[in-house]
Amino acid sequence: MVRMRIEVRGIVQGVGFRPFIHRLVSEYGFRGWVRNSSRGVDMELEGKENELRQFAGRIAPEKPLLADVESVECTLCESGEPFTDFEIIESRTMQSRDTLISPDIGVCPDCLREMRDPADPRYRYPFLNCTNCGPRFTIIKDIPYDRAKTSMSDFPMCPRCESEYRDITNRRYHAEPTCCPDCGPQVFYEEGGERFERDEAIEQARKRLKEGAILAVKGLGGLHLACLPERAAELRARKHRDGKPFALMCRDTACAEAIAFIDGAERERLESIRRPIVLLRKKERGSFPEVSENNYMGVMLPYTPLHYLLFGDDIDALIMTSANLSDKPILHTNEEARTELASIADGLLLHDRDIQTRCDDSLLYVVNGKDYFVRRSRGYVPYPIRVKGVEKNLLSCGAEQKASFALSRGSSVFPSQHIGDLKNYETFANYRRQIAHFERMFDISPAAIACDLHPDYLSSQCAREMAEELQIPLLGVQHHHAHMAACMADNDLSEPVIGIIWDGVGYGTDGTVWGGEFLLGDYSGFERKGHIRPIPLIGGDRAVKEIWRIGYALCRDTSLYGGFPVSMAETQLRSGLNCPLSSGMGRLFDGAASLMDICQNASYEGEGAVLLESAADEDCTECYPCEISGDNVFDYAPMVRAILADRAAGVSRGRMAARFMNTLCLMAADITEAIGRESGVNAAVLSGGSFQNMYILSRLPRMLEQRGFRVYTHSRVSCSDEGLSLGQLMILNAAVE
Ligand code: ZN
Ligand code: FE
Repeated sequence: MVRMRIEVRGIVQGVGFRPFIHRLVSEYGFRGWVRNSSRGVDMELEGKENELRQFAGRIAPEKPLLADVESVECTLCESGEPFTDFEIIESRTMQSRDTLISPDIGVCPDCLREMRDPADPRYRYPFLNCTNCGPRFTIIKDIPYDRAKTSMSDFPMCPRCESEYRDITNRRYHAEPTCCPDCGPQVFYEEGGERFERDEAIEQARKRLKEGAILAVKGLGGLHLACLPERAAELRARKHRDGKPFALMCRDTACAEAIAFIDGAERERLESIRRPIVLLRKKERGSFPEVSENNYMGVMLPYTPLHYLLFGDDIDALIMTSANLSDKPILHTNEEARTELASIADGLLLHDRDIQTRCDDSLLYVVNGKDYFVRRSRGYVPYPIRVKGVEKNLLSCGAEQKASFALSRGSSVFPSQHIGDLKNYETFANYRRQIAHFERMFDISPAAIACDLHPDYLSSQCAREMAEELQIPLLGVQHHHAHMAACMADNDLSEPVIGIIWDGVGYGTDGTVWGGEFLLGDYSGFERKGHIRPIPLIGGDRAVKEIWRIGYALCRDTSLYGGFPVSMAETQLRSGLNCPLSSGMGRLFDGAASLMDICQNASYEGEGAVLLESAADEDCTECYPCEISGDNVFDYAPMVRAILADRAAGVSRGRMAARFMNTLCLMAADITEAIGRESGVNAAVLSGGSFQNMYILSRLPRMLEQRGFRVYTHSRVSCSDEGLSLGQLMILNAAVE
């Protein structure tokens, strides 16, 4: 007999870990104790050494669903007074708030089974949950995480729930949000002064949806607008919504398969406990144009018990789009539903559990079997990303339009959820609140702050104020350097890399707008080694939506631009007034979309690029002339001339779009090769919002690999500005050493 101390690190609290240990221990009959510690779960056990080692070896492979075991360390220790039994020691109030908080998790199969069992006390109860599933991040007000500090504090447990909660053998042992119809939240439906309760509310909502009504539905992290896909145009009209695609929620994978292609990895993501929206290729090009105008359909499966009840067995698919109006944060209270959605929703399916923290649905592609985030939010946040080499507590403030921030504690970086466009006042207020909330939740007070170099970004202003108030250092980080560092950190790289960083806009070190960049460097610094020739943005910001202005600047062929106020544009262009130069790849896409007459006015930023991508003929491998100067500047002029010639000759848009993107791939490969030859660096990272283009993402890495490069893309944070905060943090970390 020996005594062994076993320390388990990782995500092991609030996930049913101690009951799991209890069960495993009872198989062997060890004596001793287990408890939550400030760094994970610790135990001391007495038994035969070989059995103890075997036991320890089973912990990681057999862990509970939501746990993430990073390490299991065993040390033999002095045996004092022999243990008499096995017990779970209640943790002393932890000094260090070192614990982790789980994201919100989709309802588990056990809970679903209960919900569908007429004999179960939780039959058809829309809020059942257990240790393996349910709301977490969105209901937490403060830590330590227990019911009193969540939205569930309004719902004292009934004796049955209480006894399950205290029973170590029960699935609901220490499941803080557990509840039942007797003690938990209730659903209700409101329409035109009428109100329906509980099951009747759900039945009424179902009936109205099937009749074609548009409803507001309260979810985990906010309100959705829901309706049948056939009603997309009506929803768009009522929402005054631009062309941005809506997401669909499908009853099950089979229903999703009727609409889109789903491979093994995509199915796995779709059905995972995180329940993201997965961008799937439509089966039929051009199907559901009012839901999504491109080749992809954002699809998710139901993730709350309420969703399952809403679908029943006869609704196949519903549009489920975040209820956020004109860049405001996603609506999340019953009051907001009643006031702000009155003109959009016919009825409101609400409940009386408050949403503490807004959290939008996560949105991703699956690329080579890995997540490729457009938005990392519900289901993922607030889990940390582990990185190497970070030891200090730091804060990075992100960009502005796709704002996010990140905090670090040791090697854990906590990126925030999707926050939105800070230029909206309420979004900015929410951003500040969330920084404070994260600091409190994870007990982090930053030793230094990083922000974008752009002096006018509200996130930069916020960073300046905080740095001043806390009297801590502030570092401005160049936008594309941060993108590069984000992709390095995403792949655990630290050696110098070539960064192919393409996006819409970012403040350059020379005060001009960058965005089609080739950088060489690492966390400690970078050199701009190449870029695309800057394009004059006639009318400044207006050109972001009126993309014909860019097309015009690219070619100045007035004959193409009948109907547009080109004489004004020409005057501006000649005088240079309000014509900032931009080397943004996004703008080059916009200009090309305009030249090909795929899109002249974008209803949202980047629409031209999205439509150009989805127009492309996948089988076309031809290129336009690709002219690169000696200092690695891509001159688009010969390409533009060739596009115009194609257009005059009546070449299809699909072929022009493919030729254009093939040219960009060729250009990137040539410039990267030149930089590689000169520097001896053979690792390339791809980042920036333009790499949400699946056409390029599925071709460029292969081309670079053929030329001898190791190519890295994102899988843990988004390539867009949302992922920027991770890169800023890594650069700050290198600077404060
Ligand atoms: Zn469950
Ligand atoms: Fe960017």
